[in-house]
This record gives sequence, C-alpha cells and structure tokens, in this order.
Amino acid sequence: MLIEQFICRIDNIAILLHHESSQRTIAIDAPDGEALLAHLQKLERKLDLVLITHHHTDHTSGIRVIKEKTNALFIGPEAEKSKIFGLDYVINEHDILQTDFCNIEVLSTPGHTLGSISYYFPEEKLIFTGDTLFSLGCGRIFEGSTKMMFHSLEKLASIPEDTRMYCGHEYTEKNGQFALTVDPQNKNLQDHVAKIISLRKKNRLTMPSTIGLERAINPFLRSANPSIRKNLDLMTASDERVFATLRKLKDNY
Ligand code: ZN
Ligand code: FE
Repeated sequence: MLIEQFICRIDNIAILLHHESSQRTIAIDAPDGEALLAHLQKLERKLDLVLITHHHTDHTSGIRVIKEKTNALFIGPEAEKSKIFGLDYVINEHDILQTDFCNIEVLSTPGHTLGSISYYFPEEKLIFTGDTLFSLGCGRIFEGSTKMMFHSLEKLASIPEDTRMYCGHEYTEKNGQFALTVDPQNKNLQDHVAKIISLRKKNRLTMPSTIGLERAINPFLRSANPSIRKNLDLMTASDERVFATLRKLKDNY
C-alpha cells in the first residue's frame, strides 16, 4: 500500500492510500476536496473509497466536491450520519469492511466527538486515528467524557506496537513541547522531539508514528508512568485521573 499525505487547510493532513496491484485508491477524510482532486489528477488515480473519521467540518467539507467529480463511495460513523453530508454507507464498532484488496476494521473511539471512529488495517499494520490519537497528543474532548476518551486511547494503545499510525493534524511539534513539560526525563521523548523539530524545519510531515513509539513517548498513553505521576504529584491517583489532569493541563497550555 502506497501512502501519501499532504497538509491542507493550515494543519489538516490529507491522506491517500493506493493499492498498486488492484489500482484502488482510498482517502481518509475529506478536509479539502479541490486539493485532493488536484492531487489525484497529478497522480493519475481515480478515487474509490473515502473513510470519514468524524463529523467536524475540517474533515468533511470536501465531500460535496469529491462526490460531484468522482464515483467514490463515502463511509462514516452511523452515530454521526445526520451531521455528515453524503455518506453512502454507515458503520459501527467491530464492523469489518471487506474490499477486494484489504480488510478494514472499525474501532469506535469516542471522546473528541461522540461518534469518532478509527480505521484499522490489520494485514497492512496501519491505523488512521482522525482527531482521537495524535502523535504526542490526543484530541480535545468536545462531545464525550474524559472516561470515554481515556478508554478510546487505551483501545488504540492495545493494538500491535508495530502498527503505523496516521492522524488528522500536524500538531506533533506543539504536542512535543507540552509533552516535555510533563515527562522531561524521558530520553526517547527528548530524542524524538529533536527529530521532529528538524523534520518540520524541512517542511516534512511527522507521520507515520507507530503505536509502540506513542506508548513510549505520548503522555496521554502514559498515565501509569511513575515519573509523569511524580511530576504531577499524583502518585496514588487512578490512571484515568492522571489522564484527566494531563488533558486539562494541555487545554490550558
Ligand atoms: Zn475534529
Ligand atoms: Fe480536525
């Protein structure tokens, strides 16, 4: 599977997957229809499928123009179907999308929005997390509860460590600055942030990450970590309480 990504709408990441032997192309979300169509034209590809992670405008506003110009099928969360224009099929937790070239598992990961989903390609070892899990961060909790988001992130952290992860925004550098304030002794985090700063200087994207790397350096997956707990003075609190504190600190960072 070939994966291309580019920035649009300031900091959204448009993602295109291309399966060479079947010549099938999938887009994750539709942040910018025109930019996506131009990119497809440049690559001489036709779009087959668009997988929508959640209803926010910066992930869906391209649907209308893509629908006008292609025959792609649009798939998205059933819980948000009234808020998303143009879905051809709706899906739920544990649904498996079987295409002629890959299987895609639907993971319900609410919190950022109530219906947010992540798309997991187990054979390809790929996951697309939308605005739920970011590299070195997580989405703001707009509609769900802290508990919901905590469990969604636990679910994502539990898939195989070598799964490559792509998210909906290039927020990694800013997330890294925050992460260093709560986990400053983490050598892996320090090294990775240095790498990210140099990538961003060259205008390169910081994705993909991997689930294993995020487990080692993303504070929102590390509520159990003793040194983060010590820094927050929450040695005996529940993991969920530590997560809630981290999210609050980040909201005000
Ligand atoms: Zn969003
Ligand atoms: Fe977004």
